[in-house]
Amino acid sequence: MRSKADDFPCPICGEVLRAKLVERVDADSDGESLALLMAGRLNRLLCPVCGHGGVAPEPVLVQSDAHRTCAAFVPFTIPANRKSHLAGKFKGLAQRVAGQYGQAHVCFGLKQLREALPWLPAFPNSARGFQRFDAPGSAFHQVHALRRALKNRGGDVRLLARLGTALYASGDLKGARKTMETVVREEPDNGDAWRCLGAILLDSGQTRPAAEAFERAYRHHRDPECLFLAGVADFRAGAPLEALTRFQRVIQKRADFFHAYIWIAVVHTAEGRYGPAIEALRAAVMNGLKDAGMIRSRKELSPLFGERGFQSLMKHLEKPQAQGPHRPSTTKRGTGSGRPRAKRSGRRMPTSPIQKRRQAVKGK
Ligand SMILES: [Zn+2]
Repeated sequence: MRSKADDFPCPICGEVLRAKLVERVDADSDGESLALLMAGRLNRLLCPVCGHGGVAPEPVLVQSDAHRTCAAFVPFTIPANRKSHLAGKFKGLAQRVAGQYGQAHVCFGLKQLREALPWLPAFPNSARGFQRFDAPGSAFHQVHALRRALKNRGGDVRLLARLGTALYASGDLKGARKTMETVVREEPDNGDAWRCLGAILLDSGQTRPAAEAFERAYRHHRDPECLFLAGVADFRAGAPLEALTRFQRVIQKRADFFHAYIWIAVVHTAEGRYGPAIEALRAAVMNGLKDAGMIRSRKELSPLFGERGFQSLMKHLEKPQAQGPHRPSTTKRGTGSGRPRAKRSGRRMPTSPIQKRRQAVKGK
């Protein structure tokens, strides 16, 4: 049995645990460690602050001179689509293992370990699957752990913010809101907390305060996403002009912010202005090519626009295409009025990407 010391941050409360882990188990002579390994109790970490526990996400070498085998046991199972990525990560380890006995085994989870080493004794307490220490578990588990942690460290705002996020994820909007409001009272500069509060408020239907919370979040970390969410909240609060202003600010910050264009189209469509809505959609295609297919995907877009609004929009969208894609664009460029009239612009097709973008930005 060989071991090494390492640091493991608790995925729930953030406490850093320093632990000595077993790296190698001799299956011929160390039945006790082998039994612990199979029971999921070898290299088990327990956070002293929140009580979260699990097996350290580090491989253990199981070795037998008698059977001339050695397997690297990784104490978690992985979905097939991530296998090659992880196998690559453990390749060096597999080679080391192979170097010793000429056969490489990297086993993810107990089942694979048993397949690779069929001579392993059957332990009555053998675990079915392991809880990994670095996996935070369900939102409910997190809420319980964080409440425990707060009993140990009452008044720790960082923990309280984590609790607010976990409560939100668990669907307890009321509890989450109360907790996050306490956090922003204590730390008015905590942009992440404002952002989370905004999301909670938006989901609770408190759209005006949600927009304010997202705006505060934006002030602190200048992330256009916060501005975008503030716009969504504005729109839901029945303030389309404010919403458009915000979406346009988003595009000024990040021209490839695909959903800002989509939402400009949503707002225009809701107001019956199909021309500017279509321009915004075109600008979206020009600026976010990888998502362009989505515009054609009814399933994703029609809930945003509402089925009727979406149908009307699509009707308008098909019109100018039927008339040919290169109709000359006139009047608007450089006029500075910034407010295309729906009827007119709906029939016109901008010719260059820059023009399209400009029109989308102006198109309020
Ligand atoms: Zn913890």
